[in-house]
Amino acid sequence: RAADLPGKVRCEEKREEVMGRAFVYVILGGGVAAGYAALEFVKRGVSSGELCIISDEPFAPYERPALSKGYLLPEAPVRLPSFHTCVGAHEERLAPKWYKEHGIELVLGTRVKSADVRRKTLLTATGETISYKFLIIATGAQALKLEEFGVSGSDAENICYMRDLADANRIVDVIHSSTDGNAVVIGGGYIGMECAASLVINKINVTMVFPEVHCMPRLFTPKIAAYYEEYYMAKGVNFIKGNVLSSFGIDFNGKVTAVVLRDGTRLPADMVIVGIGIRPNTSLFEGQLTLEKGGIKVNGMMQTSNSYVYAVGDVATFPVKLFGEIRRLEHVDSARKSARHAVSAIMEPEKTGEFDYLPFFYSRVFAFSWQFYGDNAGEAIHFGDFSGSKFGAFWVCKSHLVGSFLEGGTKEEYEAIARATSLKPTIEDAAELGRLGVDFALAV
Ligand code: FAD
Ligand code: NDP
Repeated sequence: RAADLPGKVRCEEKREEVMGRAFVYVILGGGVAAGYAALEFVKRGVSSGELCIISDEPFAPYERPALSKGYLLPEAPVRLPSFHTCVGAHEERLAPKWYKEHGIELVLGTRVKSADVRRKTLLTATGETISYKFLIIATGAQALKLEEFGVSGSDAENICYMRDLADANRIVDVIHSSTDGNAVVIGGGYIGMECAASLVINKINVTMVFPEVHCMPRLFTPKIAAYYEEYYMAKGVNFIKGNVLSSFGIDFNGKVTAVVLRDGTRLPADMVIVGIGIRPNTSLFEGQLTLEKGGIKVNGMMQTSNSYVYAVGDVATFPVKLFGEIRRLEHVDSARKSARHAVSAIMEPEKTGEFDYLPFFYSRVFAFSWQFYGDNAGEAIHFGDFSGSKFGAFWVCKSHLVGSFLEGGTKEEYEAIARATSLKPTIEDAAELGRLGVDFALAV
């Protein structure tokens, strides 16, 4: 069969003879997960011509986290090729040349517009049919748009989203034309917090608007959030909480000049950054694969309901043993590791066990750096010095440690909280746990 053969072949598409290519392995999506999957394929001995990566971005896979951090700095900002995968995990940097040298076909700037898992084919926007024996879906996610919340106007040139390099370049341009001006950041999540910090460093006055009572509500406790918010406020950031945007004030050139909130407040704006969450890119597979919790459902081998199709990264809903349930995680470590696991499962199924993943999230803003492991379920027990620079929290659920957060830790301390969380030790005395703090983890 055509799909079993690497190289250029003729294959059938709707009974018409069209020219297409066939590969043993195809990765759909060229983001973080794709880069780490490619490296794993090479480590496991993929042959030249067997692997293809299709991405609608015109760049080889890169470390997406750099976009809201080093990419936005006013001095010595990071630029490609310095942050191609897999530098984020201290591995080889895979510039386009690397893919060529290993006989990996990079089909860039090319959108896949439909998929047929029964025929094992993908149809690109350029009209090419690419067939596979094994498919890894690594399509990630897209930023939610304000229009989905009934607010129009987000196509104005100074309203920015942040998902890919094109978005980041747009933000850099808008920052340059907004020096000493005002920015409104919509959303108090990861994008909101990281971009707000970068804007402050660029000497832009920032107002953050979000509906919740504090920033990062999905992860931070009120006490942790208060620490960072106070620092942001000391840097001049204005927080407007419990409120949402209702419309934009737009000038004759179509540029936004103000943001109008639900309570009528009017905020002057030279630029707006919107970070209100994401939607996984599952649409190509709706009705073909089992979807759950907004993602493509996979088993512990990252295998979907079709045994030749795997899903990894932001788009995959996978079993997380620590939680005892399936979840979708939207973080880079999970993308890297799930991608490697899928490749292992495809190339050496007999040697590959179930994916056993300890959730890991992190962020860096200003001079801060925190790491979180596990689950923020149950009771939060704070520790450390909240008036200094090293503090954190443990989460205890049903008398077991299930989650750990640490700001300002050393490498050894982060490793200790990760290890302790993965072991889920019994906690008999919560007050003692809070008193010991990181020392508890170091002693586990
Ligand atoms: P992505 O990296 O999003 O890659 C998906 C790729 O698929 C994209 O190239 C996309 O264009 C392509 N694609 C989608 N559909 C198609 C199609 N139909 N045809 C062709 N190509 C397609 N996580 C952390 O843990 N720490 C951080 O500090 C951090 N910072 C972040 C900063 C930013 C600005 C963003 C946006 C995310 C950040 N994340 C961070 C999250 C992390 O980057 C994601 O979890 C990770 O990128 C997911 O990897 P992925 O490969 O699943 O998806
Ligand atoms: P998040 O889900 O982190 O945060 C979105 C925030 O916006 C939530 O607080 C949400 O509130 C709020 N919100 C929702 N609707 C509105 C609205 N209409 N007006 C104002 N606020 C609103 O998503 P982000 O967009 O910040 O991040 C996008 C993706 O990028 C995520 O997958 C994230 O994990 C990833 N990312 C990760 C980073 C990291 O790990 N360090 C860094 C940057 C990005 P509510 O919860 O009530 O809906």
